[in-house]
Amino acid sequence: MTSGDKLFGRLLGRSSAQAIDTPAPPSAGLHVLLDAQGRVLDIHGTLRPQLAQYADSPPLQDLLCTHSAVAVEGVPADWQRHSLDLDFLGAAGHVLHTRGTIEAHDNGWRLHAVDIGDLLGGRRLAEQREQNQQLASLLSEQLRVCSLSRLPEVLNEQLCSVAQRWRIPCVALALLDQEDQGWVIYSQYANHDAPLFWHTGQRIGTCLDSLNGTTALSLQAPYGRGEHPRLHSVFGNADGFLVPYRDGQGVAAWLLCGAYSGQPQMRDRDWLNLAAALAAPLLSRLREQRHHQQLERLEALQGLLGTGWFELLPNSGEIQLAPQLMRNLGSEEAPTRQALDTWLELIHPADRQELHSRLRDLQTLGKPLLASVRLNRGDAAQPPTWYRVQGQVLGVGEQRRWVGFMLDISDIKNQQLQADAAHARLDNLIASSPAVIYVQRYVNGALLPVFFSDSLLPLLGRTLAECSHDSLVQWVHPDDRDLYFQRTRQLLREGSVRSRYRVQDKHGDYHWLLDEAKLLRDDLGVPVEAIGLWLDVTDATLAAQQVKDSEERYRILVEDSPAMICRYGPDLTLIFGNTPLANYLECRPAQLRGLNLGDWLSAEQREAFVQRIGQLTPEFPVSTAEISLQLPGREHAWWVWSDRGVFDEHGALVEVQAVGRDNTEVRRSQQQLTQSAKMATLGEMATGLAHEINQPLNVMRMAIVNVLKRLGNGDAQIDYLTEKLQRIDAQVQRAARVVDHMRVFGRRSEVEQQPFDPAQAVEGTLSLLSEGLRGKGVEVRLTQADIPVQVKGYVDQLEQVLINLMVNARDALLNQRENNPELRPWIAVHTEHDSRHVRIWVEDNGGGIDPRLLERIFEPFFTTKPIGVGTGLGLSVSYGIVENMGGRLSVSNGEHGARFCVELPRATDA
Ligand code: ADP
Repeated sequence: MTSGDKLFGRLLGRSSAQAIDTPAPPSAGLHVLLDAQGRVLDIHGTLRPQLAQYADSPPLQDLLCTHSAVAVEGVPADWQRHSLDLDFLGAAGHVLHTRGTIEAHDNGWRLHAVDIGDLLGGRRLAEQREQNQQLASLLSEQLRVCSLSRLPEVLNEQLCSVAQRWRIPCVALALLDQEDQGWVIYSQYANHDAPLFWHTGQRIGTCLDSLNGTTALSLQAPYGRGEHPRLHSVFGNADGFLVPYRDGQGVAAWLLCGAYSGQPQMRDRDWLNLAAALAAPLLSRLREQRHHQQLERLEALQGLLGTGWFELLPNSGEIQLAPQLMRNLGSEEAPTRQALDTWLELIHPADRQELHSRLRDLQTLGKPLLASVRLNRGDAAQPPTWYRVQGQVLGVGEQRRWVGFMLDISDIKNQQLQADAAHARLDNLIASSPAVIYVQRYVNGALLPVFFSDSLLPLLGRTLAECSHDSLVQWVHPDDRDLYFQRTRQLLREGSVRSRYRVQDKHGDYHWLLDEAKLLRDDLGVPVEAIGLWLDVTDATLAAQQVKDSEERYRILVEDSPAMICRYGPDLTLIFGNTPLANYLECRPAQLRGLNLGDWLSAEQREAFVQRIGQLTPEFPVSTAEISLQLPGREHAWWVWSDRGVFDEHGALVEVQAVGRDNTEVRRSQQQLTQSAKMATLGEMATGLAHEINQPLNVMRMAIVNVLKRLGNGDAQIDYLTEKLQRIDAQVQRAARVVDHMRVFGRRSEVEQQPFDPAQAVEGTLSLLSEGLRGKGVEVRLTQADIPVQVKGYVDQLEQVLINLMVNARDALLNQRENNPELRPWIAVHTEHDSRHVRIWVEDNGGGIDPRLLERIFEPFFTTKPIGVGTGLGLSVSYGIVENMGGRLSVSNGEHGARFCVELPRATDA
C-alpha cells in the first residue's frame, strides 16, 4: 500500500465517521443525491462550490469528465459496493478528483465523495520519484559496468537521458580538476534548440567553491542571481540550477542545469541523489582509471628501468617481489613470494653475504639499505649485471613494513668500472710518465698552480703543497725568468706556448724543462685554466750543447785545416767548402756554395769523376783518386781527392764529403823524375843510338864509295846508280825515323792520359833498341797478339818502361856473357791480353835476380851496378809509371833469367 493509499484511507475514514455521527450541513466532501436513474437531484457539501455550473437534474455523467463518465454507466444500483473514482468538471476548467461510494437513500441514491486531488498528486509524485530513482540507479549501474574507454561517451548519453527526462535544456557535469583545483566541465549535453552554455573540457574556475554549503541551488529570480552574481556568467544570465555531489573530501562534482528553473516534483534530496547517481560511479571509475594508469606506468617504469619493488615479510623469513622485478631478474617462473634464502641465491656469491647482512640490519635495526650487488650469472665472459638494492622502513610499531626496490645499474656500473679502469690507467700513465702534467688556474691574469702529477716529486723533489705562484718563479733560473714571464704572456695571449727554461730542484740542481702549455677558455672566451706538461730535457739539452760545441770544434778544424774540405751534392754542386778550397778556386768561402766542381774538370775527368762517385755505396762509401783540374788561369793542378758518400735510409746518395790535397808539386817532380829518367835512358842509349845511326851511315858510305869507284872506272850504268841511290834513300829514311822517334820520346808527357795500343810502345821501343841489341849479339824475340787492344796512359811513358826493362836485360846478359862466352843471349818480348788486362812480358836468359834482392829492386836508387853506371831509378820510375796507368809491374825469376810483367787494365770502350 502506498503512502497515498494510507493517506486516502485516513481521509476516507474521517469523512465516513462524520457522515454517521454529525450529519450537520454543510457536510465535508460532496453529497450528490440521485434518483434511481442516476439523475442528479441535489448537490451539497463543502466541495459543492468548486463544481462547474450544470443544468437541472442532469444525469451524473454530465457532471463528470468524459473518462470518469464511463465508470458510472447504467443505473446507480449497479454502482453499489464499488469505490468510485470520479473526476468532476470543476469551475474555471478545473477538475475535481474525488473518490466515493454510493448508498441507497430514501427512494433514490446518495453519492458521497471526498476530494482525492492531493492523494493522486502525491501518488503521481511518488511514482515519478520512483521512476526517477530507477533511472538514476540505471544510470549508476551503466557507469559502473561500462568499459573505462567508453566512460565519457556513456556519461554523455546519460546526461542526454537526464536532459530529456527532466526537460533540462542544458545539462553538464563539472568535476574538480586534479591539477589546478578549479572546476572543469567533464561532459555536457544541450538540446538542439538550447543555448550552448558549456563545452566539454571547459574550465570554469573556482566560482563554485563558494557554494559548498548548499544542498541544491536555484539561480531563479528573485533570490538566486542576487546572491551569486559570479555564477551568472557561467549560466549565461539565464535561469539555472546546480546540484553538488559530496564525498569524504567535500564537494567533488556539480550537476549544472542551464536555462532551467527546476521542477516542483523534484525535492532537493532527489536532485542530490541524481547528482550522486551520476557523479559517484563516475568519480569512482575515474579513480579506478587513474589507479589503473598509475599501475601501468609503474609496470612500464619498472620494465624500462629494470627495476621493481620488494617487501620483506615479517616473521616469516620471506620476501615478496614485484612480478616485473622477477621478470627483470630473469626468474619469471619463480613465485613472487619466496624464502629470502632462495631469493639470495640469485645474488653473486661475492655480494650475497653482505646483502644478507644489510637486509637483516634493515629488518632488526631499521637501518636504511643501500647496496650494489651483482647477479649470479654463470657466464663469466659476459660483463656482470649490477643491481642497486635500496630499502627502508615504512610505518611504526606493529604497522612496520620493510620495502625497497632493486634497480638495474649495469650500464652505469660497467661504464663506471671502465671509467675507473681508464682513470687508473691514465693516473698510472701520468704518474709513470717522465713528463710532469700540471694545471694552473687563471685568477685575475695570474696563473696559480693547482695540480701537479705525481712525477713532480721524482723530478724536482717537490710537492704541489710547496708550489705557489711565487715559489715557482723563484725556482726558475735567474737567467731564464724573462723567458718564463714571456711564456706566461704568450700563453694568455695566444692560447698555447712552448718554451724551455731551467728550474731548480730541491737539491739546488737545475733541470732544463721543456714546457708545453695550452690555455682552456670557457664558453665566453674567458680563460679558465692552463694545462701543460714539463719534460725534463736536461740530458738532451746538454747533449745538444755538446754537439754544438763539438760542431764548433770541427768547424774550426775544418776551417783551419790546410787540406781542402768540402761537401757537395751528387750533381757535384758544392754545399760547403773551407778556406783552402776557396783559395784554390780564387773566391771567398761564402761564394763556394752553389759552384759546381765539374766546371774545373775536363769532360773526361768529369765523366770519370761522376762514374767514381756513382760507385759509392753505403757498404763502400769511400773512394780516393787523383784528379786533374784546370784551375782558373793556371796550369793544371793535381789533387789527391778522397770522397765519402752520405746516404739516406734508402741507400740513395745524399751528399759527398771530400778531403783533398794538392798533389801538383809531387806530380810535377814525378814528371820531372820521369823526364830525367828518360833523358838518362837516352843518354845511356847513346851508344846504341850511335850504332843505330851509324849503321845506315855505313851502308850509305859503302854505297857512295862503290858508286864513286864505278864512276871512276867510267862504267857507271844508270840502273846501277839508281839501285845505289835508292839504297841510300832507304838508309836516310831509317836514320830519320830513329831521330824522329827520339825527338818524340824526349818530349814531356801529355797532361792527360790517352788511350793507345800498347803494341805501339813495343814497336817504338824496338825501333830504338833492336839494332843496337843485334849489334851486341843479343837476339830479340817478339811475339805479339794481332788483335789491337787499348790501354789508357801515356805511350811514351810505357815505352820508357819497356826500354828500362830491355836495357836492364841487356846489361844482365852482357854481364853474364863475360863469365860465360858460350851464352847465346836473347830477350823475349811477349804480349797477351784477356778481357780485362793487357800483359807485356819481358824475359831474358841473363840468369835472373838474386832472390834476396827481388823485393828491393823497385826501391829508388837500388842498383847492383858500379857507381857511375847504375842510377837505381829505372825500375822505381817504371813502377810509378805503370801504377799511374792503373797497372802493376811485377818480377819473378824464370827458367833462364828475370821475367818482368807489365800488367795494364784495358781501356773501357766508353
Ligand atoms: P840500374 O839499372 O840503374 O841499376 P834499375 O832500377 O834499373 O837501376 O835496376 C836495379 C837493379 O835491378 C839492377 O842494378 C840489377 O841488379 C837488377 N836487375 C834489373 N833487371 C835485371 C835483369 N833483367 N836481370 C838481372 N838483374 C836485373
